[in-house]
Amino acid sequence: MATGVVGQRVRDLAELDGVSLVLLDVGPAGFLELAGDRLPTGYRRALRRYGYGPGAAKADFLVDGPVPWADSLLGMAGTVHLGGTAEEISRQEREVAAGRPGTAPFVLVVDPAVTDPGRVVNGRRPVWAYAHVPNGDTRDPVELVRRRIEEYAPGFSDTVLAARGRAAADWEAYNPNYVGGDIAAGALTLRQSLARPTLRADPYTTPLPGVYLCSAATPPGPSVHGMCGYLAALSALRRQHGLRAAPDLTFGRQYA
Ligand SMILES: Cc1cc2nc3c(=O)[nH]c(=O)nc-3n(C[C@H](O)[C@H](O)[C@H](O)COP(=O)(O)OP(=O)(O)OC[C@H]3O[C@@H](n4cnc5c(N)ncnc54)[C@H](O)[C@@H]3O)c2cc1C
Repeated sequence: MATGVVGQRVRDLAELDGVSLVLLDVGPAGFLELAGDRLPTGYRRALRRYGYGPGAAKADFLVDGPVPWADSLLGMAGTVHLGGTAEEISRQEREVAAGRPGTAPFVLVVDPAVTDPGRVVNGRRPVWAYAHVPNGDTRDPVELVRRRIEEYAPGFSDTVLAARGRAAADWEAYNPNYVGGDIAAGALTLRQSLARPTLRADPYTTPLPGVYLCSAATPPGPSVHGMCGYLAALSALRRQHGLRAAPDLTFGRQYA
């Protein structure tokens, strides 16, 4: 019978000795920490070259009403991107990528109750948002994000009952895959889109027999599509059990 253990940080691959198939939902930094000297020097060097992108500074608010957008049309959207014109957003993103913290970053705001009224309890609702900031940024996200929302929704601060934040520098303690607050688990450069996390015929395999990577630091990269895990599982089944199934990218057309 299979047993699932949750809420436990694995600190050394030795903890999994005797397990014939291991799929690690970790990035290169996490894999280096777990496997250390077990990995060949060349592969370790390649993993160390893996680069991380900008961080996210996230704030969670409890508010007592919808976001008071100056443009009421925005109140119809569950997710709103704040950044001004396309040119302004490009400039903000370039600055952040260069490691320069600005005071008016690109911010993504989510008011889930717009599409799911069940999120409103006794007139109170959650609103969360994150700003794009330089990797490892330590600034207080609540202030950064609150000020930015206030520009587009005057009076927002008066609706806030409680708030908490997670600076980019603090993400790793919550999820070791988000190095410096990079919630994409690695910069999305052209190189790292193709060679993710390293250049390898089958990127889910590692030099360690029976050990596979299946996180967003493998192709096709971040997002909640589940494809990294799916493709890693197919790779493992092929190698460990000789299964020859081709990837079914339609998932049996269950969504058709
Ligand atoms: C605030 C935020 C908003 C996002 N918004 C979107 C969105 O709108 N759309 C979208 O598509 N994607 C979004 N993403 C990105 C998306 O969530 C990720 O790309 C995706 O979850 C990555 O999946 P993963 O399996 O690689 O890793 P994760 O989902 O990060 O899961 C990895 C898990 O492994 C655990 N772990 C790591 N190391 C160890 C260890 N040594 N021992 C034990 N456990 C360990 C971590 O704690 C974590 O629970 C968002 C992410 C964040 C943080």
